[in-house]
Amino acid sequence: MASPHVMNTYARLPVAFERGAGVWLWDVSDKKYLDALAGIAVSGLGHAHPGLVRAIADQAAKVIHTSNLYEVPLQDRLADRICALAGMEEAFFCNSGAEANETAIKLARVHGHQHGVQTAAIIVMEQAWHGRTLATLSATGNRKAQAGFEPLVPGFIRVPYNDVPAVRQAADVNRNIVAVLVEVLQGEGGINVADRDYVRFLRQMCDERGWLLMIDEVQSGIGRTGKWFAFQHGDILPDVITLAKGLGSGVPMGACVAAGRAKGVFKPGNHGSTFGGGPLACVAGLATFAAIEAEGLLDNAERMGEQIRSGFRDALAGVAGVVDIRGMGLMIGLELDRPCGDLAARAIDAGLLINVTAEKTIRLLPPLVINAAEAREIVARLAPLIKQFLAKPA
Ligand code: PLP
Repeated sequence: MASPHVMNTYARLPVAFERGAGVWLWDVSDKKYLDALAGIAVSGLGHAHPGLVRAIADQAAKVIHTSNLYEVPLQDRLADRICALAGMEEAFFCNSGAEANETAIKLARVHGHQHGVQTAAIIVMEQAWHGRTLATLSATGNRKAQAGFEPLVPGFIRVPYNDVPAVRQAADVNRNIVAVLVEVLQGEGGINVADRDYVRFLRQMCDERGWLLMIDEVQSGIGRTGKWFAFQHGDILPDVITLAKGLGSGVPMGACVAAGRAKGVFKPGNHGSTFGGGPLACVAGLATFAAIEAEGLLDNAERMGEQIRSGFRDALAGVAGVVDIRGMGLMIGLELDRPCGDLAARAIDAGLLINVTAEKTIRLLPPLVINAAEAREIVARLAPLIKQFLAKPA
């Protein structure tokens, strides 16, 4: 029974997990579940990954926290690693996706001030999700999440996703735009993939106008889509990327990573964090990158993602009510023609963890370590539930 002393902010499903191994979790009654959600794209290495466990335990026995008042060599190593893999130049570490985006928003505003724009505005997208702090909630394109928290933070111009003319029009009527903040693959918004040409257009527009192109990779980064970062499926380089979720494999950690015109914007005292980039989180980050590389998990994410999507295409072929099966790598959406939030609870009964987002899209984000048999098992457990669900009158 949940404690009344926990603030009532979550509509939780009635299950609690005690332990895990790889893509599997066991609840307190020892029932086994296939985890096709990875704690919403966090546990990329699955559960109890031996390399990660060892790295965290060893570091905990040395020192967990010092302070950003002092040098943190592990933070230097992680920043070097991220910048080398992303083709970026410098990183700021924090503790969550919202904080990473908050950092990017602050960076864009300082960039604006440095270029004579006093009331900076950032272009953001419909259906975007950037976090729940006041500024990131204001950047988020979800009215339900914003409701009740007004007044929202000003300085955001919202346009439809994947819509070139809308960005041009916003640019024509606003002289104070300093940046675009965008997910190249929207997660909470329903697994919506940006067109390559659209991302290329945004890059070009930012170059022409002196704006920063800021890509939110909080959900899509760290190997999830089969590349280290989702923007790497295209041929552009952003000015800023934000990371969290899979970065620490469950140890809370976020990062705002900058390059080019976005580099060197902050000076000492502009921004900071008590916990950000501490030794324990950085060790988790380094162990995450090491395991993804050593175990070939980028390639695995691409192959397993394709296997799962084609498995569902076969299993659900001709089933009325299935609108679309889409995604990249292990960021997968199955859109139905009706709200299907109930499916998450039904899947729990069937020993499977899934999520529904944007009301009608079943979202699958399994650990990157998933193998072919486990990928088949996701389809085998979920496809019948979808068919049963759709067989009932809408
Ligand atoms: N950005 C994206 C793309 C996300 O998917 C999320 C969380 O779902 C966030 C930002 C916010 O991250 P956090 O919940 O760690 O603050």
